[in-house]
Amino acid sequence: MPSYDPNNIFAKILRGELPCYKVYEDDKALAFLDIMPRAPGHTLVLPKAPARNILDVPADDLAHVATVAQTIAKAAMTAFAADGITVQQFNEGAGGQVVFHLHVHVIPRKAGQPMKPPAAAKEKPEVLAEQAKALMAALAAG
Ligand code: AMP
Repeated sequence: MPSYDPNNIFAKILRGELPCYKVYEDDKALAFLDIMPRAPGHTLVLPKAPARNILDVPADDLAHVATVAQTIAKAAMTAFAADGITVQQFNEGAGGQVVFHLHVHVIPRKAGQPMKPPAAAKEKPEVLAEQAKALMAALAAG
């Protein structure tokens, strides 16, 4: 497996060199909206420490990311009036991974509405800003 590339796009977001629609942050994890959502409210949860994917991440960082993904999933049920949540995580190109900093997809789902294909369309900035606000409000409400 190739080594971690510190210039991947999520590493740049983590360093604050690129913007994101942040919804959650603690000392070990960051969560922000996917700009090409497969469904409204599609969120990515990342460990802050460098890790390419599930094959090299330390177990405690992976466990923390899973815990944050659960928190996001619960809040997203309320924020997006979801009927369910799809959680996905891809590893290496053959596994569907495109950005090589570990991330977990948390995707709110409505009954009967299929997900869009990956990277189908960029969402409008104002829509993403509104969705980030809604998700943060649901997170704050606990
Ligand atoms: P994957 O590596 O296949 O698990 O997916 C990478 C995900 O990152 C895709 O869903 C993209 O839509 C998303 N993505 C790519 N660039 C950005 C960005 N700058 N901000 C937020 N999401 C992004």
